[in-house]
Amino acid sequence: MPLATPDVRRHNLGLVLGRVLEGAGEARADIAAATGLSRGSVTSLVAELIEAGLVEESDVVAPAGMGRPRTTLALAASAPCLVTAMVDADHATAVAATLSGDELARVSLRHGRPMGDPGAIADVLARAIDDVAGELDAAGRRIADVCVVVWAPVDGSPARVLADTDLGWGEVDLLGLLRDRSAALATFEATGGSSRLVPDSSVAALAEHVAVGGDTLLYLKSDSGIGGAIVLTDQDAGVRVIGAALGHLPVVPDGELCACGQHGCLVTVAGPDVLLSRAGLGPLADREGLTVALETFVAQVRAGEEPAASVWRGAAREIARTAQIVALTLGPDVIVLGGFFAALAADVDAVFRGIQPGIARSAAVPVPPVVGSILGADAALHGAQSDARTRLLADPLAI
Ligand SMILES: [Zn+2]
Repeated sequence: MPLATPDVRRHNLGLVLGRVLEGAGEARADIAAATGLSRGSVTSLVAELIEAGLVEESDVVAPAGMGRPRTTLALAASAPCLVTAMVDADHATAVAATLSGDELARVSLRHGRPMGDPGAIADVLARAIDDVAGELDAAGRRIADVCVVVWAPVDGSPARVLADTDLGWGEVDLLGLLRDRSAALATFEATGGSSRLVPDSSVAALAEHVAVGGDTLLYLKSDSGIGGAIVLTDQDAGVRVIGAALGHLPVVPDGELCACGQHGCLVTVAGPDVLLSRAGLGPLADREGLTVALETFVAQVRAGEEPAASVWRGAAREIARTAQIVALTLGPDVIVLGGFFAALAADVDAVFRGIQPGIARSAAVPVPPVVGSILGADAALHGAQSDARTRLLADPLAI
């Protein structure tokens, strides 16, 4: 019988577990109503999830006076957890969270940006991972998924960092370096787990898409270089993310030579290093790190201080031009700016609206709004967690 196949059962287990993760405090009958599964199926699927240590019954509340007590379901307190690690231009961070996304532990260490020395950064990231894993271990919880997020393009199998200009890296097998340094990662992989390496723009775009809604989203962000991604919703294939090197869209004809070999890339006229240097904040970046220098830059722009304000006006034009080129081909519902662009998104939106051709300004083609990121610095971490959850829900008993 088709309904009895293992595939269908796996799918239904994921459906029920997903419902438990989202709708805290629901009873079996609520889950049956929400998923369209029969009460009998839900009862048997829940029994399997309880047996697997993923779900527990809780809050048996007897309504005052009449009616039967109600048994609600929740994620088991000892259920396996997600570990997400991230390297940015200044920090190595590891976060442990439940399958529902509740944060349990976070360790963020400054790595000091040792240019061209991936091993030194892997040392710091491995320490952060082992620290959060230690906290999970102490609480009696196992790791279900490890995802490492980098601010750089990723490709290959096994996945490697292709190049990270912020850190002076060429191609780097970061997972390999971590495996040699992190006892927790080595143990996780030795017991059948497989860790993943993902670029931050793609997972951040996914998280923003969940936060703002719509079908098609264009994401453009800058914290160090400039990255981008496009999220598409397809009725059959679901949500797809395409990484897009929007920082290297050549927006200035015959412009300055970029490190990528092209001329006039967006990053050569709107990248953080260029803007900070033009605004006289290069020494601050060297001393205090990019994050602090960019916060100062944003504060100066908002206060109308020169030269930051006019440096930004020029950059906003180029960012808007890039958004225009992509928007005319892609037709996004919304354009989300992340990283330090987020706080200044209204400026880009104003320019973007002003440079639309007549056809787009007319009612025939709606001009998408340019908005700042809702999730801020944690967008990539949230996106990586939600991506991990989606994959784990595809086969809950393997968690
Ligand atoms: Zn380039």
